[in-house]
Amino acid sequence: MAPVNRRILISGAGIAGPSLAHLLVRYGFEPTIVERAAVFRDDGYMIDVWGTGYDIIERYGLLNAALARSYLFDRLKFVDERGHELSGLGGAVLRAALNGRFFSIPRGDLALAIYETISDRVEVLFGTSIRTVEQETSGVEVEFSTGARRSFDLLIGADGLHSRVRELVFGEEPSFQRSLGYVAASFIADVYPHRDESTYVSFARPGRQISRYAMREGRSAFLLVFAEAGEPQIVTHDAASQKTYLLSKFGSDGWEVPEILERLETAPDVYFDTVSQIRMPGWTQVRTALIGDAAYSPSLLAGAGAAFAMLGAYVLAEELHAADGDFIRAFPAYEYRLRPFMLRQQDAAIRFAGSFTPRSEVGLFLRDRAVNLMNVPGIGTWLARRMLGEAFRFSGNCRQ
Ligand SMILES: Cc1cc2nc3c(=O)[nH]c(=O)nc-3n(C[C@H](O)[C@H](O)[C@H](O)COP(=O)(O)OP(=O)(O)OC[C@H]3O[C@@H](n4cnc5c(N)ncnc54)[C@H](O)[C@@H]3O)c2cc1C
Repeated sequence: MAPVNRRILISGAGIAGPSLAHLLVRYGFEPTIVERAAVFRDDGYMIDVWGTGYDIIERYGLLNAALARSYLFDRLKFVDERGHELSGLGGAVLRAALNGRFFSIPRGDLALAIYETISDRVEVLFGTSIRTVEQETSGVEVEFSTGARRSFDLLIGADGLHSRVRELVFGEEPSFQRSLGYVAASFIADVYPHRDESTYVSFARPGRQISRYAMREGRSAFLLVFAEAGEPQIVTHDAASQKTYLLSKFGSDGWEVPEILERLETAPDVYFDTVSQIRMPGWTQVRTALIGDAAYSPSLLAGAGAAFAMLGAYVLAEELHAADGDFIRAFPAYEYRLRPFMLRQQDAAIRFAGSFTPRSEVGLFLRDRAVNLMNVPGIGTWLARRMLGEAFRFSGNCRQ
């Protein structure tokens, strides 16, 4: 029997949106995606996949596609101004702690692996966003930025940290956003001469850090993170001002920083945002639900934003399927299963925030000692298991 409320509009073609569309098609729904960017965006830094992330990719049937695009993580090293290693950690420690269920993949490659499963089966409207929403008893009326008006049965906001659906249906962003005191930027350079294969290389000064990872075909991925006291006032979509801002933060640093900033200046796509969480009293309202960063961004510091975006899409799709599209039953079940788990993940990320990018020389010194300690047999595996946190339990009597 076909489900009711089949026509589902999803805002956002990042990780959460295509994940949801993938499952909705499987369950007989008719999703449409509306994406603000003109084309599919496949950029972003490396993501480490373990625990819930590994489990969820497996459940989508995408493990082989993801592994084919994956990278081996063999070493993490922190270097000084001359590139000499200050501290380091072998990948074997993490792989042992995780029984080998661990790999790294660029965010964009994971997004593309998901998107490719739906691109010829789902209507995707690029270069478009939602201008207005009216929720009626019989459905949802939307007006797009193009001026077109359409009706759907349900609306899902999967449009990230600065969600338009959240703003239109639930309220202004500041009521829900909690900054963790950092700003992050990432980009990929086509050619970069310094390469350490399978190694995350990081250079840090108090309150700021630049990392690189060598990719295939001579490319390199870069991640820049810096501490920003109070509420960062720099969220802007103007790429030129973002770059100027980053140059002012890192401009005088040594190591390879001048070379990296040179690449940054000419990079066509730079991801740039505050490191923030979204905390809301509820993720659903009438015929609208939020998933992924839009609902519960755990922030970069949780190290699993993409995994949790796929997880939210999975739980919501399962509940809609189980309720044959009856959102009055499915939406509360989605929240009931996921909220406690996500809150614990967000709390863990906040506890980690203070030590993420040490803000003093002493903090950096202690960070190096702690990283080196993890190489001591037994201690590393034990510490890694503690730090990597709990995994979501998908079934059984634990509707978490
Ligand atoms: C291009 C890109 C690069 C990223 N790089 C990194 C990174 O290097 N490190 C990191 O920690 N996180 C990065 N992120 C964020 C990371 O992908 C998310 O934290 C996480 O994967 C959760 O996924 P999501 O699908 O909920 O949100 P996102 O992956 O952010 O996807 C949201 C999607 O919604 C779209 N969108 C936004 N507003 C609208 C609107 N008004 N109408 C329609 N569509 C809209 C966006 O263009 C995007 O495609 C990046 C996100 C993007 C989009």
